[in-house]
Amino acid sequence: MKYAGKTALITGASSGIGAEFARELGRRGADLILVARSENKLRQMADELRERHNIVVAVIAADLSEEHAANKVSAEVKRQNIQVDILINNAGIAFQGEFADLSVEQNHSQIMLNVAALVDLTHAFLPDMLVRRDGAIINIGSTTSFYPLAYQAVYGATKAFVLSFSEALWAENRQSGVRVLAVCPGATETAFFEAMGSDVSSRKDTPEQVVKIGLSALESNRHFVIPCVQNNFESRILPRILPRSILARLVASISRKVFTKRESPGKTNAALSNKPFVNFKISRRFD
Ligand code: NAP
Repeated sequence: MKYAGKTALITGASSGIGAEFARELGRRGADLILVARSENKLRQMADELRERHNIVVAVIAADLSEEHAANKVSAEVKRQNIQVDILINNAGIAFQGEFADLSVEQNHSQIMLNVAALVDLTHAFLPDMLVRRDGAIINIGSTTSFYPLAYQAVYGATKAFVLSFSEALWAENRQSGVRVLAVCPGATETAFFEAMGSDVSSRKDTPEQVVKIGLSALESNRHFVIPCVQNNFESRILPRILPRSILARLVASISRKVFTKRESPGKTNAALSNKPFVNFKISRRFD
């Protein structure tokens, strides 16, 4: 695939995986539109990338969890008469805890950012790509796209949506010249866990690995990719061999342990310990 002369719009471009997509696509010669809330960070990145790669970089500061924010972003892009050839729906957030304890706002903002903004931006830019018979959409899912995720129930469900939506569009548009890909990373070294107030994994992939593997999957017109083989066990193999009820309880058991440790290091979280716990054989290794 040629990137020089194309324009990529990247949401969540101010840090982590989104910032790495911006650096890598800039290095490959693509012009960029960087979207996130942190305008200063985006402006600084834009200056660096312009200077380093001699590309055009636009910045749009927006809180994509707000009602109609994504539509305002696409309207601004159209007002500036920029053609989007590659859309990377990367911005995402997660809140951790028992569903009933999370606020309405926390649940709502995950759905707005991880799902509604992604759908709205796709709807804004896909039709023109189809007319041109050329374009690409990368949606960032997660290894959690493949299983129900207790203690992050809404986040997990938004990522399941991302995978399902992306694969449906991939199938719908296979003959159209437009590629649609879900990239489903496992734990990755970014500010993501910090923002969530948790660190669930000692082993993490790098944003560089995720982006390189994502772009090569796009070039092969794959429908989804799980960067890094180590993540295949939890996302590909377990969901195939375990009944969903067991899978849900197994993940709950593991997540609960991590969550309990974080909430009350060295002690058992009282609210959580009152809940029925997983009590079937396979889970004992994980309890
Ligand atoms: P990150 O470093 O925290 O980056 C998140 C990005 O999203 C930032 O640029 C942030 O910028 C932007 N963002 C957050 N809230 C926003 C809002 N309301 N409106 C607009 N932009 C917003 O995390 P990351 O790991 O790179 O996350 C990128 C994607 O990867 C997410 O969709 C996440 O679910 C997914 N993912 C991450 C991991 C992981 O382990 N890191 C694993 C699987 C999937 P501002 O704060 O400036 O707005």
